[in-house]
Amino acid sequence: MRLSRAFLPTLKETPADAQIASHRLMLRAGMVRQTSAGIYAWLPLGWRVLQKVEQIVREEQDRAGAQEILMPTIQTADLWRTSGRYDAYGPEMLRLQDRHDREMLYGPTNEEMVTDIFKTYAKSYRDLPRNLYHIQWKFRDEVRPRFGVMRGREFLMKDAYSFDLDYAGAQKSYRQMFVAYLRTFARMGLKAIPMQADTGPIGGNLSHEFLILAETGESQVYLHRDLLEFDALSQPVDYDGDLSPVMDFWTSRYAATDEKHDAAAWAQVPAERQVSARGIEIGHIFYFGTKYSAAMGLQVAGADGKMVVPEMGSYGIGVSRLVGAIIEANHDEAGIRWPEAIAPFKVAVLNLKQGDAATDALCDRLYAAFDPDAVYDDRADRAGVKFADADLMGYPWQAIVGPRGAAVGKVELKRRATGERLELSLEDAIARIKA
Ligand code: ATP
Ligand code: MG
Repeated sequence: MRLSRAFLPTLKETPADAQIASHRLMLRAGMVRQTSAGIYAWLPLGWRVLQKVEQIVREEQDRAGAQEILMPTIQTADLWRTSGRYDAYGPEMLRLQDRHDREMLYGPTNEEMVTDIFKTYAKSYRDLPRNLYHIQWKFRDEVRPRFGVMRGREFLMKDAYSFDLDYAGAQKSYRQMFVAYLRTFARMGLKAIPMQADTGPIGGNLSHEFLILAETGESQVYLHRDLLEFDALSQPVDYDGDLSPVMDFWTSRYAATDEKHDAAAWAQVPAERQVSARGIEIGHIFYFGTKYSAAMGLQVAGADGKMVVPEMGSYGIGVSRLVGAIIEANHDEAGIRWPEAIAPFKVAVLNLKQGDAATDALCDRLYAAFDPDAVYDDRADRAGVKFADADLMGYPWQAIVGPRGAAVGKVELKRRATGERLELSLEDAIARIKA
């Protein structure tokens, strides 16, 4: 992407109403534009990041055996009357009427709809287990939308739904998602900690929230330091095998949000291993048995011919919230510091003297080596503007080409995460970034 032609707008001023770093940086870096309270348009830079986050979520869901579908955003009120949640959900639900005065709603979640769809096809125990997910926009009319995309009204969520023949199967599906979540967040460079949670309006009796630590988090959390030191990607995972040991590691160490905090159990954690901090919820998984399958009339024939009501769970990830959360965990005074896995572009090529034959030639070659994963700052701007924008937008690498270096074929590489700088030949610079 050549910046001279790109729509990558930045704001010079720090937006006054943005209270936390990620919100300020997303506005300043031109990632999103608020169109009304809690509703955002995603501009090219933000959209690229959102898609990268989404893709990691998708790959790990697929790996764990879930299958992607896409359900609509608009649902009928009737579906929700069947489960009894139409009235129970309250003012967070955006209710609509079509031209025939039929009551509709913008989905805040999809338990009813997915159960209704699955019911049409699942006839026997051979149709189980199954796990269906989609990545779709949700609407919840939050009382206080704030912190930018972290607590929006319209937001992108991955929600998966498992169907099993019995309790043991449902626990296995739950563990598969539990492990998939650990991997998903670790791939984004996040230390996400599963914590026992309340189930809220989704219902059920087993649930974990996944939180990352951040000063600006909305939840108070308490956890054993072991959990922060464990690398979730260090172990190979066999989703068909026994996942209990992995889950046992996480559930045998203390970790709780305020709501579930137990002072007596906390006192058992050695003082030097206690971590109390603020946290951001990025995912939430639920086992709720037959709550929706029973209400929606889902039944299949068991192996003995008797009808069975399948056991279900649902599994959410806040895909758009993650973009904000990742920035909360990766920024400094100058701007964002993207982890490579979700950076909008891997490298920014900064031409410090546009129009100089040597700098132009070197930049063209660098850009060609990384396009489409590079931005080329070929604008007729001062070097200082280019440095500041590249730092703000947070590309993992900056390849800086000035006339003095270009005359002797040298490129300066800057690594955004560490500030480390290297002067290298063109070939070595390309190899270093690719390594
Ligand atoms: P919260 O406690 O933050 O209000 P929730 O428990 O109501 O969230 P879930 O129903 O568990 O949310 O939704 C799954 C995930 O969707 C959450 O873990 C969170 O990451 C994300 N999410 C929920 N509400 C919002 C929102 N208003 N804006 C952005 N992401 C959200
Ligand atoms: Mg939740």
